[in-house]
Amino acid sequence: MQPTAETVARLEAEIRELRSALTQTQEALRNQSDSLGGRDREVGQSETFAASVLDQTQDAIVVCDPSGHIIRANQAADQLCDGNPLQKQFEVAFPLHHVAASTTGNVPSRDEPLSLVPPASAVPFLRDVEASLVRNDGLQVELSVSVRPMVDESGQPLGTLVTMTDITDRKHAEDSLRRAKEDWEQTFDAVPDLVAVLDNQHRVVRANRAMADRVGMTPEQCAGLLCYQLVHGTAAPPESCPHMQTCRDGKEHTAEVEDARRGEYFLVSTTPRFDDQGQVIGAVHVARDISDLKRRERRIDTLTRVYAVLSQVNEVIVRVRDADALFSEVCRIIAETGRFPLAWVGRRDGKRVVPVAFSGPAANMVHEIQVEVEGRLGAGPTGTCLREHRPVVNDDFTTNPAMAPWREQANRHGLRTSAAFPLYRQGQPIGTLTLYAADPNAFDADQVTLLASLSADISYALDAIDDERRRVLAEEALRKSADELARSNEDLEQFASVASHDLQEPLRTVTGFVDLLRKRYVQQLDAEANRFIEFVLEGTERMQTLIRDLLAYSRVSTRRREPVSVDVGELLDQVQTTLHEQIQEARAEITHGPLPTVRADASQLAQLFQNLIGNGMKFRGQSPPKVHVEAVRDGDFWHFSVRDNGIGIDAKHHEQIFEVFRRLHTREHYEGTGIGLAICKKIVDRHGGRIWVESEPGHGATFHFTLPA
Ligand code: ADP
Repeated sequence: MQPTAETVARLEAEIRELRSALTQTQEALRNQSDSLGGRDREVGQSETFAASVLDQTQDAIVVCDPSGHIIRANQAADQLCDGNPLQKQFEVAFPLHHVAASTTGNVPSRDEPLSLVPPASAVPFLRDVEASLVRNDGLQVELSVSVRPMVDESGQPLGTLVTMTDITDRKHAEDSLRRAKEDWEQTFDAVPDLVAVLDNQHRVVRANRAMADRVGMTPEQCAGLLCYQLVHGTAAPPESCPHMQTCRDGKEHTAEVEDARRGEYFLVSTTPRFDDQGQVIGAVHVARDISDLKRRERRIDTLTRVYAVLSQVNEVIVRVRDADALFSEVCRIIAETGRFPLAWVGRRDGKRVVPVAFSGPAANMVHEIQVEVEGRLGAGPTGTCLREHRPVVNDDFTTNPAMAPWREQANRHGLRTSAAFPLYRQGQPIGTLTLYAADPNAFDADQVTLLASLSADISYALDAIDDERRRVLAEEALRKSADELARSNEDLEQFASVASHDLQEPLRTVTGFVDLLRKRYVQQLDAEANRFIEFVLEGTERMQTLIRDLLAYSRVSTRRREPVSVDVGELLDQVQTTLHEQIQEARAEITHGPLPTVRADASQLAQLFQNLIGNGMKFRGQSPPKVHVEAVRDGDFWHFSVRDNGIGIDAKHHEQIFEVFRRLHTREHYEGTGIGLAICKKIVDRHGGRIWVESEPGHGATFHFTLPA
């Protein structure tokens, strides 16, 4: 507020008055001092003493007169004001403003001159009021201020004694302590782990925010409560509680603790707290929520077990040859290796799904439940899977409305989840593989993929079992017919052998007697009777040839010898010797290339060449017959060929000429019984080779056969 001219004039008058009063007072004092003499010196000495004591004092001391003007200040006060004129300094910044404020509640302006502050008499006795002073050099000094009024013996105010202690260092120390405390508290609350400081009676001394939030309280509400009641809701600490151990042995402990109520897992560590005597007074209890980690661990564990199931089932698939045995083994492996509480295979039977195999600790449930393909009893994974031919998962028996028909049983057997996978046989859905788990949402996507491939493997195995069964049946049938064929062949050969052998005897008798008839009665009989006798003789001769050839045919198998090393070149020379007459008669030319040594029945091999070369000469054309024999190596075989320049054979007869009695010509044109090539085939077959012909009519024929090298 701007002072008026009147006020200024009045103040100037007052100052003038004061000045003259001061001059008068000084005059009076001088006179007084003169009169006082020695006494004055005494007082002067004691004042000097007092001043030096004041200057020695660390605290700043200021003495004010009753009007609030400073009349005395010690060195510490001067230093506090940075050597500036005290009066001005105090008028501007003297902390009595605060003192006044703290006592009267009336806060004077900081610019208000100190003289306007209520006089010392009004200032009560104050002790250790904290205030701050900004020095000229800008430094802020923290002070503890005490103000004491001074009165004379009659109780008249003499002034005020102000003592100021520099507490800047202490304040700074206090501030950093406070900040450190705040920092610590913030950190304590910011830690996401659940932290509780406990006493040795398991009482919470202090809990951080995470801990308090978890139990739905404030940190303050937690204090004093029993930790196990608060966290676990139990009447005593859990068995695994590491805090108990720390209280017992004063050591740090760590344990995994499960909160079964919430299905959560914690890694708990307890660090002991000691008193000055080294006694355990409790611990810092830190609990880290490792439920996620546990869940991941469990997931990996489950996947590993499912992989193990897959590999074991695949081993079983290779071994087992029966569908029902396969289903039982699969269920057993899922329960034992996969540690699933229940696995069953259901086969579709009309409207119903009938269990054909099951295993696991909850296997009894299979007898208690009924599953169908349609309707309410078909709304679960098994029924849906059978209808829709895809894996179906039930995430939770308790919440999934479709699972209502089986909820009670599942609950009783401790089952929360199920998943069904389709089984196929020859591409047709025939049933399901259904698995159960004790946890909700137990079948995640990865597990479903793995289990779907398991069911695909089982379906593949079912097809393989069917194929195998068909193959075994076919093999059995083949073996049976081969046995029958061998038996009938043997019978036939025996018959041929016996028949041909036994037929020779009566035939010889007939021939002998007809020959006698001809010789003895040729004269008595007429020409016609003699011709008849010739017919009979021709017939019997022919029959003898037939019987001989038939016998030769049957002897290929009944009279076979052990194979020996045969030089085919030498063998061919012998054959030519045997056929000498025929060769001469036909003027035939028999040639051959280099020939190997083979292991064979020598006489049968000779018979083979004899028949082929014989035919080559017999079925000749216009020009003299030429027969050429060759052999080339073909892998594990020797490939022989007998080539002639005869009449050749039409392609349509290439197969049948190797059958018994099969001839392409009449006896009038070419002699023969039709057994020669059948014998050749039998010999080659016996030696493990193959025989065939290449020929065209009019261009000769080449007979090929192979023999093992
Ligand atoms: P056969 O010689 O007693 O008639 P084969 O079994 O030896 O009986 O021969 C069967 C038939 O094959 C002969 O009747 C003949 O028609 C035909 N054949 C066999 N070898 C030759 C050949 N080298 N050239 C032409 N035809 C042949």
